[in-house]
Amino acid sequence: MHGERVTAPAATAPPRAALLTVDDDPGVSRAVARDLRRHYGETHRIVRAESGEQALDALREMKLRGEQVAVLLADFRMPRMSGIEFLEQAMDLYPAAKRVLLTAYADTDAAIDAINVVDLDYYLLKPWDPPEEKLYPVVDSLLEVWNSADHRPVPETKVVGHRWSARSAEVREFLARNQVPYRWFGVDQPEGQALLAAAGADDHTLPVVITTDGDPLVAPSDGELAGRVGLTTTPSKDFYDLVVIGGGPAGLGAAVYGASEGLRTVLLERTATGGQAGQSSRIENYLGFPDGVSGAQLTERARRQAVRFGAELITTRDVVGLEASGSARTVRLADGATIDAHTVILAMGVSYRQLVAPGVDELTGRGVFYGSALTEAANCANQDVYIVGGANSAGQAAVYLARGARSVTLLVRAPSLESSMSYYLIQQIAAVPNISVRSCTEVVGAAGDEHLEQLILRDNTTGQTETVNAQFLFVFIGAAPRTDWLDGVVLRDARGFVVAGPDLAAGAEQPRGWSLERAPYHLETSLPGVFAAGDVRFQSAKRVASAVGDGAMAVMLVHRYLDRE
Ligand SMILES: Cc1cc2nc3c(=O)[nH]c(=O)nc-3n(C[C@H](O)[C@H](O)[C@H](O)COP(=O)(O)OP(=O)(O)OC[C@H]3O[C@@H](n4cnc5c(N)ncnc54)[C@H](O)[C@@H]3O)c2cc1C
Repeated sequence: MHGERVTAPAATAPPRAALLTVDDDPGVSRAVARDLRRHYGETHRIVRAESGEQALDALREMKLRGEQVAVLLADFRMPRMSGIEFLEQAMDLYPAAKRVLLTAYADTDAAIDAINVVDLDYYLLKPWDPPEEKLYPVVDSLLEVWNSADHRPVPETKVVGHRWSARSAEVREFLARNQVPYRWFGVDQPEGQALLAAAGADDHTLPVVITTDGDPLVAPSDGELAGRVGLTTTPSKDFYDLVVIGGGPAGLGAAVYGASEGLRTVLLERTATGGQAGQSSRIENYLGFPDGVSGAQLTERARRQAVRFGAELITTRDVVGLEASGSARTVRLADGATIDAHTVILAMGVSYRQLVAPGVDELTGRGVFYGSALTEAANCANQDVYIVGGANSAGQAAVYLARGARSVTLLVRAPSLESSMSYYLIQQIAAVPNISVRSCTEVVGAAGDEHLEQLILRDNTTGQTETVNAQFLFVFIGAAPRTDWLDGVVLRDARGFVVAGPDLAAGAEQPRGWSLERAPYHLETSLPGVFAAGDVRFQSAKRVASAVGDGAMAVMLVHRYLDRE
């Protein structure tokens, strides 16, 4: 391709829409570009190509970069790909661009036919001299029409996928949780198809993520995505004062206090920072936010605060092992990499418990979601939504989703919400007309081909079952720690919660396996120098405030440990 290079627009200047001209005769091609540049060069980008294939490549690149094309001028007689064939294919990429065919007098019949084939806006007879009379008035009027519509470019990351694909849902969730703005395109929408065509992908390899630089990532992993959207995935050092495992409120709290108090601190997070709190639509009981705050906002501020103090925040890295090597504590990542530190804070929180019923696993991500109410909310507009669970998290989701959904039904196993949900939420739910509560009810089955279509509900007082139509089911049935990888390393209770501090001794003088003369510090685990904070800790309060408090206290104890050992 010749002429102006197709580059990403500068971040500040609004990108100029392009006028693209294609002619296989280099002399003619240069002449058209020159005339266009003379008149429109200030306000538009002039892109020149010498074959249909070259021109399509340029258009694909521009499409991926989110750039606009206002007018396409194509020579009719080109070998391999005629101007009409080119315009036909270009329509898939830029359907709104105005289309002009350049023809010799002898070809006017063909040009007139093309009006139907490619919805031609104009045909120009060659030569068009003087351009002031024959070329500019035509292009001016086409630009006037084009400008009258809204063609603002989309600078965000774009995601093209199937609406009912589990991986597409995960990718969207991942981007949302990492605060990466994106725009979603269903593969069944024309724009989704145009983006796929531009990326050279097909609908068997979805989702396709197009970065703001215009690079297409076909079915990317979380790690790949993280790297491309500007998240840090690799620690910069081999040795730290403190490794924090888990990026929820407890881990972020520990990272803020650790880094602000001069400890070389790295936080390792499996997916995205924020933890469970990051998925809460509205936290109303966190100190200092009288009007409530969304979990995403709260944890995003905490993330920025930790980074500002110099903590390294590493995402998409799963910790799978921990061992003591002399006074160092070695943390092993899923890919085999290791990081050494003087101390470790375990802040892995808890993960959603799975709903066990036939059909549920198969439909997860395709109508059945665990806690990801926020990302899916837009899709729930005017739908009948079901939520399983009777705790605050389920209540919050019900209130949030009821804003757009036709109806929200809360399915609760217990006879009422009183024993499991805060009073203020029960009051809120009662005040929302499209939320209903079905007590003594369990989900015993889910069915659907491509996505969830039906739920089978059982009344646990009568044992009767009922099948209801449902497109969405959100599951909030409690959570459990995933700490198997700590087996034999630190003491855990039967459910996997990490035992710490006074709970370790459980009445005995010294905890089992404890080698030091001093007693363990308050949040210290059975391995000296390793602390537990937040929901993962045995007997913790399961609140954002207490998790943050644990994180802060654990750092204070880290200092005490470092001063004494
Ligand atoms: C929907 C919802 C609403 C809630 N609303 C409220 C509320 O209004 N008020 C309130 O006080 N509390 C609320 N809670 C509870 C609150 O969010 C939790 O108590 C709090 O998030 C616990 O923080 P944490 O840091 O201990 O753990 P988590 O928030 O669970 O974070 C743990 C993090 O560790 C990561 N992780 C786990 N294992 C590994 C590993 N091996 N390697 C690397 N990373 C790992 C996880 O990916 C996760 O990001 C709510 C919870 C939910 C789910």
